[in-house]
Amino acid sequence: MQIRIAGIVPESFVDGDGIRCAIFMQGCLRHCEGCHNPDTHALDGGRLIDTADIIAAIKKNPLLDGITLTGGEPFLQIDAATELARAAKNFALNVWCYTGYTFEELPDDAATLLENVDVLVDGAFIESLRDLELQFRGSRNQRLIDVKKTRELNKIVLWS
Ligand code: SF4
Repeated sequence: MQIRIAGIVPESFVDGDGIRCAIFMQGCLRHCEGCHNPDTHALDGGRLIDTADIIAAIKKNPLLDGITLTGGEPFLQIDAATELARAAKNFALNVWCYTGYTFEELPDDAATLLENVDVLVDGAFIESLRDLELQFRGSRNQRLIDVKKTRELNKIVLWS
């Protein structure tokens, strides 16, 4: 399956817990003021790549703790994002996903991706709530959500 990406950081230490392959997906409609990755906004920007190539690179790296789907907006390419997340889970890697949606606003077809996500960093970046002390997120409205527990208990449970 083809996926449009802005780039890949094969070993990131800042896009979630541990050593992670961070996949920056191309395309976002929010245009948050102060967004750190404005080059990822254009829906036709970046480059197309086969998900199989990304999966092969992930499989080859024994140092990884997980992968991170970020962007851009991963939920705009939900099928490709799900394929990457499923593959990572099959390799016993954990999956983090950043999104501009809040958990409550996620599109109806989000479930297939969410089933394969451990931590969802939700909500758009809000410059007036920016806080450099925060871990793995830019503004105070954003949450690190434990997706499995949240789905089980039907209420937001934060990752810790
Ligand atoms: S949702 Fe994320 S990628 Fe999109 S504009 Fe906001 S901060 Fe940037």
